[in-house]
Parts: sequence; structure tokens; C-alpha cells
Amino acid sequence: MINQNFDEWIRSLYFPHNNIFILIILSFVILISVGLFAVILIHNQKLNNKLKVVLLSISFIFGGIILGGVPNVVLVIQHIFADILFPNRLVSLLIRISIFLGLTLVFGRIFCGYVCPLGAMQEMASMIRFKPKFDYDRKFWKKKNYLRWGFFIFYAIASMIWGLEATLFMNPINGFLIYWTPLNVVIFIAFIIFLLTMLISIFIYRPYCRFSCPFGALAFLFGKVSPLKIRRTPNCIECGICEKICPTLEGFDISEKGECYYCYRCIDFCTNEMFIDTGKIAQINRLLTTYSLDFDSISKDKYFDQIIKSIIRLLIPYKRSRALEQFNDALNNKKDMSQEAIQNIVIRLRTIFPKEIEQFNLSNYKNWIIENESRWKEKIEPIHLDKLFYGLKKETQ
Ligand code: SF4
Ligand code: SF4
Repeated sequence: MINQNFDEWIRSLYFPHNNIFILIILSFVILISVGLFAVILIHNQKLNNKLKVVLLSISFIFGGIILGGVPNVVLVIQHIFADILFPNRLVSLLIRISIFLGLTLVFGRIFCGYVCPLGAMQEMASMIRFKPKFDYDRKFWKKKNYLRWGFFIFYAIASMIWGLEATLFMNPINGFLIYWTPLNVVIFIAFIIFLLTMLISIFIYRPYCRFSCPFGALAFLFGKVSPLKIRRTPNCIECGICEKICPTLEGFDISEKGECYYCYRCIDFCTNEMFIDTGKIAQINRLLTTYSLDFDSISKDKYFDQIIKSIIRLLIPYKRSRALEQFNDALNNKKDMSQEAIQNIVIRLRTIFPKEIEQFNLSNYKNWIIENESRWKEKIEPIHLDKLFYGLKKETQ
């Protein structure tokens, strides 16, 4: 049974413990900080899996458990449609939703990616698996917008006809309130939908966000025009991994990124940025996922080889600087380098090792490249050749 005083009940849904004012303010400050940290870490390419889980867990604990599913942008949208005929009530609701859409317009979908408690839970569930084939079925996903806008219209009509009270159960973010109102039938049904969403999230990336969230549908449009997007740098070697790894198929050079949740997979898996998350488990996870992508058999063999080596490295000390040492040895003609080490170090030399590169004599390096041209040409794919002197010209000219 829903409380008799419906307005009061709705207010209590927004803030189930509105008497703990300090806690609410503190939680909001923490949630805003999570969003800001995520933006800073992602755009400086400093995020890793551990930090990602920490940020998502904070949103889950503060926005989900402590505040009971706040910010609940879906509830605001349901409320707008339910009150569409009452302009005096609409103003504050429209201001609220405009703030979240405005944030999306400026920062892209960072709110959906890291602050929304339901988005955070779906993201964590998606990190359990490597790469379900379903997410990469392009023909299927092309049609998903029909579903999304179909649900949006359904939400709108249902809220207008039946009112907010009768449609609250359709919003799985309300499921977080199970902790505060465990005996409420409406909340219980929303909680069941929440649990189902979590289960499906293991197999399909963010199903609620991408199929049925009404805020997600609007944020998709605003995210497209946001200026802050993950973009390829001029160092891109067009290896195509980001296109294959992106669970929303937004990894292409021309993608508008309306569906980009800043999941960070494209940056983490980029062959050009191979040292971003150096944790041994993260490396193995990355290799297993890459292996499961549809590469040709030669690449598959290469990745299989790396997976075995990485598992062995779990047992022995392994330093990030190993590749740099190899490069140093190669410069001094002590050792031959692997094709992979050559490609990655030369292409990203100055970015990966901004301090260490100062130790090298750059004219030696340039001479070494020229003298060993036949070795480079044999080992480097044609597409990488023009990057041979990357970062070097400015220093030596
Ligand atoms: S799309 Fe909806 S459920 Fe998903 S993160 Fe954004 S607001 Fe939350
Ligand atoms: S992999 Fe796709 S969704 Fe994730 S950050 Fe990159 S472009 Fe965005």
C-alpha cells in the first residue's frame, strides 16, 4: 500500500531521510566530486580498472544505498509527464532535468557513466565478462533506437494516463529504496526489475540505459553535440581495436559518441597506449578480451602467446620499464627487439616515457633508426613507417 499522503510520499522518495540534511549535502558533494574526478582522470588518461571500480562504488554507496537512488532523473521525467497539465508544478521539474541535460551537453555522458547509481551498477556488472557476442551484433544494434524511443513514448503516455503513482514500479532506480521501504509493493516490483537489469547487464552492456531509460534517450541526443568527447589523437595507427572493443559501437573515428558512457575500454585497450593500466590482472583481462575479438589467426596466436607470458609474469617480478630497457639495449646493439616493443616504443616514445627519453642521446637515436632502416622496414607494418620519427623531429631539427 502506498502512503495516503501521496505528495509527502513522493517527497520522501526523492529524499528518504530528509531529516538528515548534512548527510544529503555531503552525499551530493561526493557525487559531484565523483563526476569531476572521472572527467579529469579520463581526459588525462589516468583512469584504471581499480579507480573505475572505486568511483562507481562511491556512486552506488552514496547515491544508491545512502540516498536511496539519487539523482533519480527517471523519476523527474516521469513526474514531468504526470504533471504535464499543471504548469505551476512543471517549472521546478523542468529546471531539475535541465541541469542534468546541461551537464551532459557540456561534459558528455559523464553523469550516466559514473554518477547515476543505476548506471554505475550496470557498468560494474558489465565488467564481469569479457566480450559477449551479442553486444557486437551491429545489425541488431542499429535498430535499438526504435526500442529506446518506443519506451520513451510508453513512459510518457503511461505517466500521463495513469499518473506517477501507478508507474513508479517501471523505474528500476526506485529499486534502491528497498533498503528504506522494504514492505512497499511498488518499490518491491521496482527492485525486482532492478535485479533483472543487473543480471542482463552481465550479458548485454547497460541494457536499461540503452533500451529503456527515458533520460538516456534525451542524454543520447545531448551527448552527441557535447564538445568533450573521447577522440583519437594524431598518433592513432588505425589498429581498429577501439572499434572492436567499444560495447556501444561508438569507437569509430566518425562516431558521434551520443552513446559513449566513458567506460574507458577504448583507451585501455588501445595498442598505442599499451601501458595505461599496468596491473598484472588488468593486463591479462585485456589480453583475454582482445583474444576473444574476431582477429585473424596470426593475431590470435600472438595474443595467445602474450596471455601465457602474462600469466607467467604473475609469478615473477615484472616492471613496466622492461620495454624501455629493451629499447636501450637495442640502441646499444646488445639485443634485438620484438616487433611489438619497437612499434609501441617508437610510436609513443615521448608520451610514455617523457622523462626517461631525456636520458637518450637523440642524435644517436636518429642515427640508429637510419642505420637500422632495413630492420625497421622488415618489422614495421607500412602504416607505421611515417611514425618512425614521431616526437623526434622537433628535438633534432
Ligand atoms: S541512461 Fe538512465 S539509468 Fe542509465 S546511467 Fe543514464 S540516467 Fe542512469
Ligand atoms: S569504448 Fe566506447 S563507450 Fe567506452 S569510452 Fe570508448 S567510445 Fe565510449
